[in-house]
Amino acid sequence: MIPVQGLEDAQVAILGLGRSGLSAARALSAGGATPVCWDDNPAARARAEAEGFVCTDLMKPGAFDTIARLVVSPGIPHLYPAPNPVIAAALEAGVAVDNDIGLFFQSFATLAWDNFDQAPRVIAVTGSNGKSTTSALIHHILEHAGRPTQLAGNIGRGVLDMDPAIDGEVVVLELSSYQTDLARALTPDIAVFTNLSPDHLDRHGGMGGYFAAKRRLFAEGGPDRAVVGVDEMEGRFLAGQLSEGAADDRVIRVSVERKLTGPGWQVFARKGFLSEYRQGKQIGSIDLRAVAGLPGAHNHQNACAAYAACRSLGFAPKVIEAAFHSFGGLPHRSQTIGEARGVRFVNDSKATNVDSAVKAVAAFENIRWICGGLEKDGGLGALAEALPGVRKAYVIGREAAQFAMKLSVEAEVCGTMADAVARAVADAEAGDVVLLAPAAASFDQYDNFERRGEDFVREVQKHL
Ligand code: ADP
Repeated sequence: MIPVQGLEDAQVAILGLGRSGLSAARALSAGGATPVCWDDNPAARARAEAEGFVCTDLMKPGAFDTIARLVVSPGIPHLYPAPNPVIAAALEAGVAVDNDIGLFFQSFATLAWDNFDQAPRVIAVTGSNGKSTTSALIHHILEHAGRPTQLAGNIGRGVLDMDPAIDGEVVVLELSSYQTDLARALTPDIAVFTNLSPDHLDRHGGMGGYFAAKRRLFAEGGPDRAVVGVDEMEGRFLAGQLSEGAADDRVIRVSVERKLTGPGWQVFARKGFLSEYRQGKQIGSIDLRAVAGLPGAHNHQNACAAYAACRSLGFAPKVIEAAFHSFGGLPHRSQTIGEARGVRFVNDSKATNVDSAVKAVAAFENIRWICGGLEKDGGLGALAEALPGVRKAYVIGREAAQFAMKLSVEAEVCGTMADAVARAVADAEAGDVVLLAPAAASFDQYDNFERRGEDFVREVQKHL
């Protein structure tokens, strides 16, 4: 655990007692603060009370009179479409609102570092898609290279649950836009921006607010090095703002759409090859087509971003290349789960938005495509464009019929996963790929995308 520094003897309110809320309560308590907890759910309050924390209704008059700070969970709206009433009350009372990420950054460095030979460093990864894969890949490269490292953030382990840093350690954080929007301290040494496409727009008041939330990771603390995907205008804008000019190598530009030229530091992938150029000279090249755990251009983007982050720590290209080959990929992200009679089965349940599904589909050919679910804001427009790899779609979800009508490819309304897998298997020929890449959220039929992916795997196993 990382005890919170700088709030000794203060009362700190905590709204939301899920994983990050409880871990904030523990870390605050360990640092000498007094947590004052609340969650609308009585079961969550009971769990906190069982650990000895005091729960107080933060909506009662005067609740914020003695509170130094309010720490909130990422799932709770803090501004748009409207702030949670407790957050509104804190803002009204002039109390600063923060989250576990802010507490982490204010508490990470300790006096023990004075005795270290090499100061610990933090790499933080944000972007619309590819955050988890890129973060896990950086972590994997560091482990492979024998560097002490921990992985946390949006990826499963709470930041305050990490162990205090040891000599030379590199912490890798995956940060969502909800997390970067609110953290009061945000000071990574290396910050990575993978890409930007519309998502969570209701929580950010539109695309501008969404980009602004991610941009804070670069603007608040001023990282030593920024790795920026420049395939969208926002990435080019960000790279431009962070550098003095094209030759400024505090920014490493990343692309999977074109060869980047110029005097600066750039990493790009074309036709399956990663290239690194610095000051006009080629430094490294890797054949990504041979890397089984990172299929498709979208994963090549993640590979380039992870490569750039690790190069800026000083690792040699050949060390990074070797680590790529032992990367197994993450569950539910373009993960091959088996092959039978020449048909390959791939689980990309994490493709919860149109952009990630288009990327997953582009990574394969001869696709029996299982898609559908709860449609996100922004519509399915991009799915109507070229999907040349798709032979047929098998549509699941409560609104499967309407979803199917919006697709530009032949589509069969299946409703359930069992039905969709059975239909796809019946149609599939040797050389086909049965791909789950829903382009939609899962909540109409499942608790989350993981459950949806597990259901797909279960159904597929019946046919393997
Ligand atoms: P995140 O943590 O940002 O959601 P993941 O690595 O979990 O990213 O991948 C989420 C989804 O996006 C998966 O469906 C995956 O196939 C797809 N994806 C992964 N990397 C990229 C990328 N660089 N660009 C677009 N889509 C991607």
